[in-house]
Amino acid sequence: MTSISAVRVDRQECRSTRAAIPGYLDRRLEPRSLRRFETHIDQCPGCIRAFIDVRQVAWARRNADARRLGRVS
Ligand SMILES: [Zn+2]
Repeated sequence: MTSISAVRVDRQECRSTRAAIPGYLDRRLEPRSLRRFETHIDQCPGCIRAFIDVRQVAWARRNADARRLGRVS
């Protein structure tokens, strides 16, 4: 029983953590959400993977924007 409810809580935590990834990358998270985000991502391989994926896309997009603006030398 305990493990079933733990999994359920964990999944919900995963959902809110993944939803917070863009905010984290833009440094828009409040200190409380930030701590919760980092604590969870430290312990959850699935969310680390999701975080790395989103971060790579965000970086690629940022580099493309910089190149389009002609600010990359
Ligand atoms: Zn997770």
